[in-house]
Amino acid sequence: MAYPHLLSPFTIGDLTLRNRVVMGSMHTGLEDFFWDIPKMAEYVATRARGGVGLIITGGYSPTKRGWLKPFASEMSTRIQAERHRRITDAVHEAEGAIALQVLHAGRYGYTPMNQAPSNLKSPITPFRPSAMTTKQVDETATAFAKSAALAKRAGYDAVEIMGSEGYLINQFLAARTNDRRDQWGGSATKRMHFPVEIVRRTRELVGPDFPVIYRMSLLDLVEDGQSWEETVELALLVEQAGASLINTGIGWHEARVPTILTQVPRAAWTWTTERLRKEVSIPLCASNRINTPYVAEQILADGIADLVSMARPLLADPEFVNKAAQGRSDEINTCIACNQACLDHAFENKRSTCLVNPRACYETELVIRPLSKPKRVAIVGAGVAGLSAATSYAERGARVTLFEQGEQIGGQFRLAMQIPGKEEFAETLRYYQRQLELHQVEVKLNTSVSPADLMSYDEVVIATGVVPRIPDIPGIERAVPYSDVLSGKVVPGKRVAVIGAGGIGVDVSIWLTHTEETLDEWLAHWGVGDPAEHRGGLQPREPRKAAREVYLVQRKATPIGINLGKTSGWAHRDVLKQSGVTLITGAIYEDIDEYGLQITVNSEPHLIQADTVIVCAGQESVRGLYDQLLAQGYPAGQLKLIGGADVAAELDAKRAIRQGLETAIAAKDLA
Ligand code: NAP
Ligand code: SF4
Repeated sequence: MAYPHLLSPFTIGDLTLRNRVVMGSMHTGLEDFFWDIPKMAEYVATRARGGVGLIITGGYSPTKRGWLKPFASEMSTRIQAERHRRITDAVHEAEGAIALQVLHAGRYGYTPMNQAPSNLKSPITPFRPSAMTTKQVDETATAFAKSAALAKRAGYDAVEIMGSEGYLINQFLAARTNDRRDQWGGSATKRMHFPVEIVRRTRELVGPDFPVIYRMSLLDLVEDGQSWEETVELALLVEQAGASLINTGIGWHEARVPTILTQVPRAAWTWTTERLRKEVSIPLCASNRINTPYVAEQILADGIADLVSMARPLLADPEFVNKAAQGRSDEINTCIACNQACLDHAFENKRSTCLVNPRACYETELVIRPLSKPKRVAIVGAGVAGLSAATSYAERGARVTLFEQGEQIGGQFRLAMQIPGKEEFAETLRYYQRQLELHQVEVKLNTSVSPADLMSYDEVVIATGVVPRIPDIPGIERAVPYSDVLSGKVVPGKRVAVIGAGGIGVDVSIWLTHTEETLDEWLAHWGVGDPAEHRGGLQPREPRKAAREVYLVQRKATPIGINLGKTSGWAHRDVLKQSGVTLITGAIYEDIDEYGLQITVNSEPHLIQADTVIVCAGQESVRGLYDQLLAQGYPAGQLKLIGGADVAAELDAKRAIRQGLETAIAAKDLA
């Protein structure tokens, strides 16, 4: 059997899971309003049909004051519990199991009503919390237990108590956020009283066999977080209080160490789970940056954990488990850990979805229906917009020909995967390559097409992408576009000036300065140390050695990188800083000559001495073929323009892939 450990059953309390794959909790936005329950039911049922062992919902607050944001998800009344029947029934029909996560946001609550152990504001939310009274703490511990009991009533198979990622329970545990002097604070052991009471009271209400999962932070990665000794003490206490399983988490949301981004090496944190396993008797679940069945299997085979939690990988591919079990791992749409459509959306108050799978959380809306008669469709351009369109049309039963003038599929995405920390992007192209084969798309590489070649098709989709914008600067012919550098056509010198500091300028600067690093070096660069020696797992950072001296320049006076992703931009900006990249804003480009790049900043002339000047000044659409087809009378209703060829400005893969899918879904049947 493929993945024998991962696919073997596992029993927790009175629940036997069909395999060891846990879909970890992730707030999608579908939890917040009862009218989204049908969408939520289909979202989880799709994953249950896909073979997931246990699904854990996004967090539900036990009280109003624990909301993540105004009117966010809550489980505190019988009416709410009854509404959840539709969700639990849908999962059970698919022979899956589902747990409800109980989460109190504490000072992370994006509401003026938020409360916390002490009135200390978090660095990532604008609202200062009010300090809970002794009675309120006691009532909140009981509210957690009642919420768990309601979950049981709603048909959930288990509950998870959220004690990680910096939410209320963490805020009680750490001295940095708890300066109380009553029985809920004072010493490390007294700070543990709150989670221990929650687990004890939950166990009392749900009975002896109902699985109670405790999600626990093994590394806080913040100043004055828990020490390792305290972490072990807490684990033993929650075990004694009645927890059935510990699901391990890493880092508070306010931590300034990336824990799940693409640049984090796969399974980078499992050493913490392995260490805790030696201390406790209840089973443990490993999590964070585990995105393939192979990595998950290895964790279990090596005895690091009993179960493996993956959230984003199951957003990316609901069929992950079935594909792994059927020897079809090469068909898995792998999560590339970009955060762009999942966590970024959650933090921007939008419904989560997935960059590589736009149907995630839109299962009832983006439905692929077969065409009544197979039509012939030509797609021109095999970047991700074209690939998404080609595979989606083919899934509907169209006979698709995909034309690409280059040697390989992938377009801008193939360039992006050269960036350190974006290597996972190669998985998306592997996925599309396999889908093209499976759906028998005819792929014609190294093929430039003319309008005459396309006239006979029933539908034509132009996805011809973009070319780098070449700005009008004297001496620009001495500069090179980023595409030539990332494709290996031009090898830059040791001192480099980069024109344009958008997403690509930042990426190219990271690429230019990067040197290979091991996992230990990566941890040291981010200041992660042994939690047994360094409280919270933080120690002074080791400097990074930069491969080149880089100057990153833009015309705007605004800080560089402010438009990067909400949950990833800070990490990219940090890498630029660690690598000593000089950031120059408010520049006027004067000339590029044999000495380098001449600019004016604040009316002062400057020379950036550079061996190479790289242009990252955005892109322009390539749409000549589209215009020609229209001019030659190809019916406008059958001609579609998508991706960068449609709109180059602020194009990203998220929009391109979704547009490809939507275009195919909107295609009409042949008359
Ligand atoms: P971009 O984000 O639009 O940035 C273009 C940069 O070029 C800007 O800094 C702009 O700044 C400058 N520029 C524009 N016109 C110029 C001109 N005529 N002369 C000189 N400079 C000019 O485009 P991009 O960097 O090519 O990225 C393309 C897309 O991919 C974007 O949507 C981006 O968000 C996405 N992407 C995102 C990431 C990420 O989130 N990590 C990474 C890569 C790409 P000034 O006008 O101030 O000079
Ligand atoms: Fe993974 Fe990116 Fe999809 Fe989120 S949006 S699930 S990080 S691929």
